[in-house]
Amino acid sequence: MVNKIDHIGIAVKNLDDAVNFYENILGVKSAGTEIVQEQKVKVAFLPIGDSEVELLESTEEDGAIAKFIAKNGEGVQHIAYRVDDIEAAIAEMKEKGIRMIDEKPRYGAGGAKIAFCHPKSTFGVLIELTQREQ
Ligand code: ZN
Repeated sequence: MVNKIDHIGIAVKNLDDAVNFYENILGVKSAGTEIVQEQKVKVAFLPIGDSEVELLESTEEDGAIAKFIAKNGEGVQHIAYRVDDIEAAIAEMKEKGIRMIDEKPRYGAGGAKIAFCHPKSTFGVLIELTQREQ
């Protein structure tokens, strides 16, 4: 069902500071930022090889990323696996008894179609299924 790790989502308090670390310490160039209103986040994409790091800063205090940081501190928030057909992947997950947070794909940063699986069904890891064009 899944092809590869599309990206790793990391919750940060300050996007500029985190991007600065990746660019100037690790030497990874940011491919740009985007505000995703629906998820109340500002996102920076940092392609590394065939995958990306997605840095996420909350734009509002009640956003999922703000809540995550309040509870856990900064750190890895989700892992995204690439799928070819997200509708089929969601249907298959549900059929196999996996609890989905999103039963329908929603808009993700970079124009992807995404759906989150519930960590209770996935060994404690918030898994995002990601479908991209091409
Ligand atoms: Zn993501």
